[in-house]
Amino acid sequence: MVLQGQSNSTESSDETIEIDPEILVGGVKVNYYFHCKTQLWLFSHYITYEQESDLVIAGKILEKESFKNIKTKNLLIDDKISLDFVKSSGGLVVVDIKKSSKFEEAHIYQVLYYLWYLKNIKKVLKVKGIVAYPSERKRTEVNLTAEKESEMLRILEEINKIISLPESPKPVYKPYCKSCAYYEFCWV
Ligand code: SF4
Repeated sequence: MVLQGQSNSTESSDETIEIDPEILVGGVKVNYYFHCKTQLWLFSHYITYEQESDLVIAGKILEKESFKNIKTKNLLIDDKISLDFVKSSGGLVVVDIKKSSKFEEAHIYQVLYYLWYLKNIKKVLKVKGIVAYPSERKRTEVNLTAEKESEMLRILEEINKIISLPESPKPVYKPYCKSCAYYEFCWV
């Protein structure tokens, strides 16, 4: 993974591009795109078992408990993305708090999407991202490079293609299926 503290020739410019608003999705869908395409489809079609998952509830509690000593502001933007901002001495930072780094790639791309959204939709530049894992005392810095900006457009197109399928993609068993909120839907 090349996203931590990177600085190279592909550094993002301040130029923004025109985006078709139809392709915009919530950040969780970007996460699920990496986690499982079936999960992405089920979640997008409002088959939500998420409320019942102990892991999801634990994550919400963790979110409330973390950063309680730091000034944060939770913002829902365009009814689309929900962000925790932390104003640090270094500037504006978007922080996403996660329980475990097991699915770090999905977490990183979720935050990359937030940075991409802020830049291209809200025209907010110079924002950095952090994925925080308080229980592991770990933080991963996320920077939106030009390369990742292009990749994000491709990911959004693919997400929309999956969501528009008439049926959910066939489940593919993964080691983490048993802890997924959709386990019973897929495998029982
Ligand atoms: S149970 Fe497995 S296949 Fe089904 S949605 Fe969850 S991760 Fe995907």
